[in-house]
Amino acid sequence: MNLVKDDFIKAFSLYEEKALQHRRFKHRDILPLLENNKIHKQLTVEEIGRSVEYRSIFRLRYGQGPIKVLLWSQMHGDEPTATMALLDLFNFFNGERDGFDTFRKEIAEKLTLYFIPMLNPDGAERYQRRTAMDVDMNRDARAVATVEGALLKAQAMLLKPDFAFNLHNQNNYYNIPGTATPVTISLLAPAYDYARSVNTVRADAMRVIVGINKILQEFIPNAVAKYDDEHTPRGFGDNFQKWGASTILIESGAYAGDPEKLEVRKYNFIALLKAFQEIASGSYSVHDIADYNAIPFNDEKLHDALIRNLSIEKNGKKMLVDVAIRQNEKTVADDYYVEGVIEDIGDLRDFYGYTDLDVEELQFIPAKLYSDRVFSLAELTLPIIVDLLKQGFAAIMVSDTMEGVKVHTFPIQIMKGANFQGAVRPIIGDHADFFIGSKSEIRYAVINGYLIDLKEEMGENFKNGIL
Ligand SMILES: [Zn+2]
Repeated sequence: MNLVKDDFIKAFSLYEEKALQHRRFKHRDILPLLENNKIHKQLTVEEIGRSVEYRSIFRLRYGQGPIKVLLWSQMHGDEPTATMALLDLFNFFNGERDGFDTFRKEIAEKLTLYFIPMLNPDGAERYQRRTAMDVDMNRDARAVATVEGALLKAQAMLLKPDFAFNLHNQNNYYNIPGTATPVTISLLAPAYDYARSVNTVRADAMRVIVGINKILQEFIPNAVAKYDDEHTPRGFGDNFQKWGASTILIESGAYAGDPEKLEVRKYNFIALLKAFQEIASGSYSVHDIADYNAIPFNDEKLHDALIRNLSIEKNGKKMLVDVAIRQNEKTVADDYYVEGVIEDIGDLRDFYGYTDLDVEELQFIPAKLYSDRVFSLAELTLPIIVDLLKQGFAAIMVSDTMEGVKVHTFPIQIMKGANFQGAVRPIIGDHADFFIGSKSEIRYAVINGYLIDLKEEMGENFKNGIL
């Protein structure tokens, strides 16, 4: 049964795991979802070991076919998108009488699928890349010193898979070369040697990728790229390829306006379902490696905001610059905040921004702290904040806190004391808080890296005083 575009849409809409709609879920959030699979009996669920902090690591199996496929997700704890897609796939395999029974039967007869979701649960707990021992598991395939990496290698040796899928997230700043389009999915058949040789094992991985790319192009034309193919002797993907499994790296990237990566998760689901179809039917074998080579490599020229042609000045010397801003996520316990930072200054014509604005020689205006009075959070309405912004105040002092109110989401910096000093010009690594305008009028505010157009209708940029 050959699934076409509409089938993939239908499958995802039927089986998307609704309990997971945010990226910062934890091991405890997926435990009951994995347990559910035991009830349906379509997948077997087995604990194969525990993380350093004793969190269970599971392997789920579907099918009993001769071709063995091993997939693992989230060996980097802050790369959760594929874990979501795997849970969607489990729901799909638990389904019945939905038009996909023939497809599932074919998969189950031809393939045995082994899934290891969330290989780094301790990292997921902290939303960090590394394990609880602060080691990057994807640089541990050679030493196999981490408990969790050793579990994965043991599965590789035990199962001797024919195909392997290494599932990651890449950062939001990769673009398709020469365009402002973020890379939504990047793919790679990792190299097993420095010469990037192509044996039959790696060639088959490339052919499966051609099949995946074909379906993704129907959804996200020109938003698929190849990941860097330099050989990394410590990486798991490279070693799986060396160990004889045709190995495919899938990196979940970015899709504009999709901070929780729910669209990207859908394309993950579709990519994997398509791969299973190609492998089960053998249709991948007719694909041309030239089509793999034709997929462009990731470029990395995106920023969160790019402000072009900004006039800056020192000692009476003026110059026009482009300013790039990144919005870095900082994790604090179970929550996080965003810190807008100036990333680059100069000629950035070859770069792009998710927010991209030519300010046509308007000036950089330093931000000020409003110190005439101290506010309480309850009185801070949007009109009050906008009025302060228009006067060049980027920071205010507040005396209180309110349960559930996150001060970093306000479109003005909320300070506890008078410790705010706006820079006189953009400085690399500095907080991105400043204004843009002419001598007579402030036109834009940049607060914590977010650009606010002060001429726009209120509420366009933010609702209820919140960014
Ligand atoms: Zn990763």
